[in-house]
Amino acid sequence: MIPLEEARATVLAACGRVHPRAVPLADALGRVTSVPLFADEEVPPFANTAMDGYAVRAADTSGAPVTLRVVGLLPAGVDPSGMHVGEDEAVQIMTGAPMPPGADAVVMVERTGPGSVPGTVEVQVAVPAGNHVRPAGEDLRPGQEVFPAFTVLQAGHLGVLASLGMRRVPVFPGLRVGVLSTGDELVDGPGPLPLGKIRDANRSTLLALVAQAGCEPVDLGLVADEEDAVRAALVEAVASCDVVLTSGGVSMGELDFVKKVLDELAGGGGRPVTSMQVAIRPAKPLSFGVVDDTPVFGLPGNPVSSMVSFELFARPALRQMMGHPAIHRPTARAVADERLGRSPDGKLHLVRVVAALDDDGRYHVRSSGGQASNLLRAMALANALALLPDGEGVDAGSEVQVMLLT
Ligand code: AMP
Ligand code: MG
Repeated sequence: MIPLEEARATVLAACGRVHPRAVPLADALGRVTSVPLFADEEVPPFANTAMDGYAVRAADTSGAPVTLRVVGLLPAGVDPSGMHVGEDEAVQIMTGAPMPPGADAVVMVERTGPGSVPGTVEVQVAVPAGNHVRPAGEDLRPGQEVFPAFTVLQAGHLGVLASLGMRRVPVFPGLRVGVLSTGDELVDGPGPLPLGKIRDANRSTLLALVAQAGCEPVDLGLVADEEDAVRAALVEAVASCDVVLTSGGVSMGELDFVKKVLDELAGGGGRPVTSMQVAIRPAKPLSFGVVDDTPVFGLPGNPVSSMVSFELFARPALRQMMGHPAIHRPTARAVADERLGRSPDGKLHLVRVVAALDDDGRYHVRSSGGQASNLLRAMALANALALLPDGEGVDAGSEVQVMLLT
């Protein structure tokens, strides 16, 4: 058995970043920038008012209260070039409208009253120059770095880029990730189950995990436990996908052909071919290889194992390929609210738990149910994995390291 970190390092070393590409802004959510992005214009593009009120010359308000002549009305979106605010004059102005020539301050409408004569306004307070004025370029100036390379683009980032008029953004693109289930016992969908058959759970799970990781899931269906069928399915899969995930067929059984075929297809040329026994429970077996530049993950068949293996190996690899600066799930110290027992076996145990932030500001965890690797429901109910190093586990009230899954 090899330690988790060593197995993961082998996998990650073979999963390089993909070539960057400019994608439309609408497709860039969750993508990672491949280069620093620079502004080529000012935001805001012109000095404008932060308030509804009156654009004035600050000097004219020094003797407030004062009455000013209203010489125009300026809604947002209107060019003020034809206007001018002269001595003892004001322009009624709406939030976002450009400052009219001559004016250097805004008096908010709440600090004014109707003037004694129609067409005038009473300014009740003296304001300094620049009052409620948002200067041009206050947020961004031409040449300024907007975001560095390796920024994960979220909603706010897209808004900033849109405010600069960017239509496309250079990012590491998403990956097409094929998902294949292997096993003679597997049946797709509903209908009566003949004795000995089970329904395919892993494909639904893995396709969803792939989507959640920001990749395009590609359903490659079921393949039987026949060497030729497995080989044909893998050859086709690597031709049409950037990464391929299979489940089943990587342990010690006589019909575990994924391991055999992957060794054959990915082997040779000093490439890191690996059928590994990782010192973890669940998810001990992992086959991994690169076939024609396409990483292939032979995940174990047991449903919990395939999910855990995805979390530990495939997800970090996918994120690394897509340029993410942080590829691993976050971990935290938590309090075990009940005993989380285990027995010594040389492995790191990943125990399915429900973690909740308590009033004390710390995570508290409890088992989410049965811990055997076929019991998918407890995995589905879990939002974290407690990491129990080799030994006897932890008692109630003890600290435990957890990997957060959400
Ligand atoms: P294997 O690694 O192929 O020996 O499979 C280990 C266990 O996982 C067996 O009990 C399989 O029936 C089960 N299994 C394999 N693939 C799937 C799947 N796609 N959905 C549900 N169970 C599976
Ligand atoms: Mg099988």
